[in-house]
Amino acid sequence: MSVRVRFAPSPTGALHIGGVRTALYNYLFARKHQGTFILRIEDTDQTRFVPGAEAYIEESLKWAGITPDEGVNYGGDFGPYRQSERKETYQKYAQQLVDEGKAYYAFDTPEELDAMRERLKEARVANPQYNAVTRMQMSNSLTLSAEETQAKMDAGEPYVIRIKLPRNEDVRFKDIVRGWVVVNTATLDDKILMKSDGMPTYHMANIVDDHQMEITHVIRGEEWLPSAPLHMKLYEYLGWDAPEFAHLPLLLKPDGNGKLSKRAADQLGFPIFPLNWNDPETGELSVGFKETGYLPDAFINFLALLGWNPGGEKELFTMDDLIEAFSLEKINKAGAKFDIEKAKWFNQQYLKFMSDDELTDQFLSLIDVDIDRERAKAIALSLKERVTFIQEMPEAGRFYFERPTEYDEKVVRKKWNEEAANKLVEFSEELKKADAYDKDSAKALLIEVLERDGMPLGKVMPALRLALTGQAGGPDLMEIVEILGADEVAARIGKAAEELN
Ligand code: GLU
Repeated sequence: MSVRVRFAPSPTGALHIGGVRTALYNYLFARKHQGTFILRIEDTDQTRFVPGAEAYIEESLKWAGITPDEGVNYGGDFGPYRQSERKETYQKYAQQLVDEGKAYYAFDTPEELDAMRERLKEARVANPQYNAVTRMQMSNSLTLSAEETQAKMDAGEPYVIRIKLPRNEDVRFKDIVRGWVVVNTATLDDKILMKSDGMPTYHMANIVDDHQMEITHVIRGEEWLPSAPLHMKLYEYLGWDAPEFAHLPLLLKPDGNGKLSKRAADQLGFPIFPLNWNDPETGELSVGFKETGYLPDAFINFLALLGWNPGGEKELFTMDDLIEAFSLEKINKAGAKFDIEKAKWFNQQYLKFMSDDELTDQFLSLIDVDIDRERAKAIALSLKERVTFIQEMPEAGRFYFERPTEYDEKVVRKKWNEEAANKLVEFSEELKKADAYDKDSAKALLIEVLERDGMPLGKVMPALRLALTGQAGGPDLMEIVEILGADEVAARIGKAAEELN
């Protein structure tokens, strides 16, 4: 049987980075097994619907390079892929469960449900549930006669359909990540399958769709593990084979203390969403990984290793490498600590891998200076190992376009002196006389000029950098000399000598 997996987000807001990881693992698993990766939109909870969220999810996956084979806007033979368009299907199966005595109608009002919970609390029941015991005191088709039930329905009273779970039965299944999971139905709730608005709940829709879409493996976040026993009962009640399950470990805050929430990320100053998200309710803008400057490949590499490790020392994986190496068995049980410094490190690595052409294009798009491509390329190359994000390049390379107006005071105090300044002037004059030079010949020339007075390179290098950039550190100094050109080098040395001597 060929592998079919799905990513099934609810369009209730921006896609959290944990959701992107779920999508990624599904995608890698599908690719690894020449299977199919499906994007299904679980939008049955109309109260939580957020406009723009679905498009955001799609854009995010696109940016990250996680491409669905089937799904909303991708087509496929198992559609529609938006649950709100599959309503009738769920109703049919819910009805079947009621008819077979595996589910029942319940008419309880919110007040009656609250009163039931209060009663149970007073009786010191730790975990008040609508279950095999309590359901017999409630208003439902198990306690009412068939006529009473029908009368209520005819009168238009709102009702839900609940699953009828056995009182005391162990439900067991083997999770690929967590191993055997055993839960007794005494701890479970007779969950609602169909709401009073005629829409299915997540549980009902999820099971029907996974079955109809022939999903072979359900790979999803650990927060859904508590729902899995209920899902197993639903498969059993409907007479369907359950898919395999793999519940992914939580993403934890950097200190390992608790779940990585948006609030925690905000406080620590790093993104939690792949792309910028404008919250339509609050108007708040959250800056995404993309807009912060993360390259999609770096983002994916970082994300893949949050909770999965193929073993060994290798850390840099392209998408193809990930597909090759991926296996569900190598997913960790323990939560994964989120380390933004590691994400930055990955970004720097991928910046180094970027082709010169691509780098030049991106750099040119960030600066509004009219400069020729070769020069832009040289500048970008000189800067690329000195920044974490491409966006930092214009600022890091500002000195290429503007003569320094200020000079690092510490360097002035410690390294600038007339002797060095004179030598630099001498060097710049000789440089102007040279027909053409590059960083190596410029360096040779500087050494030659210094040797006349037996001066070591170290004596003038900081002063030269200061004169050219105003700063204490930066790209390779002789590269700067090469890029600026002899006239500009001479002008800057002259300016510094005038201002600092
Ligand atoms: N709609 C659920 C979510 O928002 C899907 C959970 C699942 O994959 O079963 O995460």
